Amino acid sequence: MSNWTNPKVSPDEFNMPEKMSPSLIKTLNETRDWIDKPMTFTRSASGVVFHPHGDAVGPWSDSHAKGSLHKYDCHHDRTAELDSVVVANGSGSLAQDWDCGIDNLEELFDMFLFLERLNTWNGIGVYPHWNRPGFHTDIRSNNHPYAKARWFRLQDGTYHQLTWHNWKSKVMLQ
Ligand SMILES: [Zn+2]
Repeated sequence: MSNWTNPKVSPDEFNMPEKMSPSLIKTLNETRDWIDKPMTFTRSASGVVFHPHGDAVGPWSDSHAKGSLHKYDCHHDRTAELDSVVVANGSGSLAQDWDCGIDNLEELFDMFLFLERLNTWNGIGVYPHWNRPGFHTDIRSNNHPYAKARWFRLQDGTYHQLTWHNWKSKVMLQ
């Protein structure tokens, strides 16, 4: 557990901390420092579940899309290129879902902009309709076919590119 020697995030907050990429843990710590707000991850230390699908999952998990960045033991660039799971044993998960207690849609968008300034997450998804509205953040590589992806998901499960026009018309004006 050497990745957790100086934790701001704690392994208690995740289901499978040992399957997370060290870079993911580091970037979550940087994010916690940057936003300076309490962040809630998969679960609390006492076991309250906040983001049930927010954690690392196995390469064949059917609770996540084929190319989900939450998968460990997965070669993400190749998986996305081929649209078929390519196993890479020993590689950690690259994504984590979380919130920081924001339930206002304007503030949520502002927090997205604030995260952009940190300039470390390669993929960012905004989820305004979660019970605790928040973010998917991942550290996919720049060789990933969908590098720098930015999106949000609506209540009906559809995904949309995160542009101001889309956010305004599909989220703010609904
Ligand atoms: Zn996610």
